[in-house]
Amino acid sequence: MNPIAADPSHPRYASLLRRHLIEEAATEGLLAGSAMIAHGRGEAFDYLLGERTTESAAMATREAYARLHAAKHPVISVNGNTVALAGRDLLHLAASLACPLEVNIFYRTQARMDGLISRLEGWCEQDGLDVEVLGRQTDGRIDGLEGPRAQCEAAGIAAADVVLVPLEDGDRCEALVGMGKTVLVVDLNPLSRTARTASVTIVDEVGRVAKALRQHAERSEHPTPNTAWDNDACLQASLDGIVAHLQGLFS
Ligand code: ATP
Ligand code: MG
Repeated sequence: MNPIAADPSHPRYASLLRRHLIEEAATEGLLAGSAMIAHGRGEAFDYLLGERTTESAAMATREAYARLHAAKHPVISVNGNTVALAGRDLLHLAASLACPLEVNIFYRTQARMDGLISRLEGWCEQDGLDVEVLGRQTDGRIDGLEGPRAQCEAAGIAAADVVLVPLEDGDRCEALVGMGKTVLVVDLNPLSRTARTASVTIVDEVGRVAKALRQHAERSEHPTPNTAWDNDACLQASLDGIVAHLQGLFS
């Protein structure tokens, strides 16, 4: 392991550890070329937020959990960065919810699909989890998208009523909402199209969110979804959180 990432006393330990996970996944060929750029944009927003879970993000995470728990056919969709940073905790969440987890990547190649699926199945075996890992089949479609980006599994995302898609692209988020699904996203950028289009946006780091969702599930909580959830108000609260953090730095 990178020596700095192995030293918990380093002030940037958590961030370095995440970089290390991304670097390692890239070396294993699990990520697309642009994955580090996407991670860097996320890091910049996390810095502005003070690298913490804001109160509004914690509320959004709770709402997302409530909707997953109440869903008829929930599915957790993961891309390469999500597997690297949060895959194991999301498998534990999927096991608690008894729902499938689907690998669905923007730039689909067979090698990356195989690598990501076997990484996830390896964790299931090590942790004794009975989770269906989908993504091999391409027998479903996301309406309104063209080409490989529209591919998904008929038994997974295509059939889901509620889908958790951390770090999703704006286009696909919009298409999933257009199919009438409840779309729960994780995106540190409260201004992205994804953040502004989703049903519930969690403006927080995906690794922190996955741990929090797993804890909600492991405490066997049964929160009721809030049908009056105001996503725009939650995004505004995230922006207010950034301003408050920045004002606090120099006052
Ligand atoms: P959109 O397509 O929604 O308009 P975009 O094209 O600007 O967004 P993408 O490249 O599609 O962005 O996706 C990367 C997004 O993921 C960025 O908005 C970034 O803030 C977010 N992100 C990256 N890493 C993390 C992370 N670890 N946790 C949470 N969000 C992250
Ligand atoms: Mg995008």
